[in-house]
Amino acid sequence: SNVRCVFESVSNGLRADHGEDGKENKFILELQDLLTTVNNNLRDVENAVSNLTPPPGAFSLGNTTYLGQETTQERQALYGQLVNSYKWTDKIREYSALAGNILATNSFNKTYKTFSTTKRRKTQTSNHNVSPEVIENLITSIDRLFPDVTITANRPFLPNPVIQACLGRVLKAIIAFKGLMIEWVVVKALSESNDLWAESRYKVFRKVTENCHAAMCHFHSPMMPELAVRSFMHWFHSYNTLFSAPCKRCGNHLLGNLPPTWRDLRTLEPYHE
Ligand SMILES: [Zn+2]
Repeated sequence: SNVRCVFESVSNGLRADHGEDGKENKFILELQDLLTTVNNNLRDVENAVSNLTPPPGAFSLGNTTYLGQETTQERQALYGQLVNSYKWTDKIREYSALAGNILATNSFNKTYKTFSTTKRRKTQTSNHNVSPEVIENLITSIDRLFPDVTITANRPFLPNPVIQACLGRVLKAIIAFKGLMIEWVVVKALSESNDLWAESRYKVFRKVTENCHAAMCHFHSPMMPELAVRSFMHWFHSYNTLFSAPCKRCGNHLLGNLPPTWRDLRTLEPYHE
């Protein structure tokens, strides 16, 4: 190396190849050359170092860092997993924010706007993890909105309540909420059980159940979950004429022994399927 050359030169002192004339000067010049090389190399290293970006420090997650100082092996491993999952959720949040922005610019305006003008709510940060009071308020307000819909809940004030909505004396729907979102609907005759997972034994109510699922997906709106539920209930309410309104297309009450089981999502007009 260059540094070794310098010290070799110094330790050897004057050598025979320096000759006799001005040998001290030649020796000093040689030494200066060697030192310049060392200096240049050193400057290169310094430049290279200053161009480096400092590596990120150890990932710290508050007090959980102390998990790394646990005595048992398995608990020490926990911190690594914790950091990994933290990075994961961080990425998910980033991606979902991006996706949310993209989706927001392409909104479909599926839900009924008439409701949004009456009450402007700030966007919920989470739709499926809200306090039971918020859901309870929503359900009570829907109950007041439609006088012929009777809503009963077996166990109110739950985070994910299951309610029974009786539509006059026509039918009843068992609706399962996931936070502010409708997760499952089953429509049955009033005399049937409130079992969420058993479908009606009547074909007409099985048809309506299928259509409710379609509407549930149609009205679903992550940005305005309450509006989505209201819009769904508004649509659902139009089934109070299930057995009395004639089909808008053919004008008949029955087609294949079934009443018009479909309700238009916008106009709420009855149609046969
Ligand atoms: Zn028809």
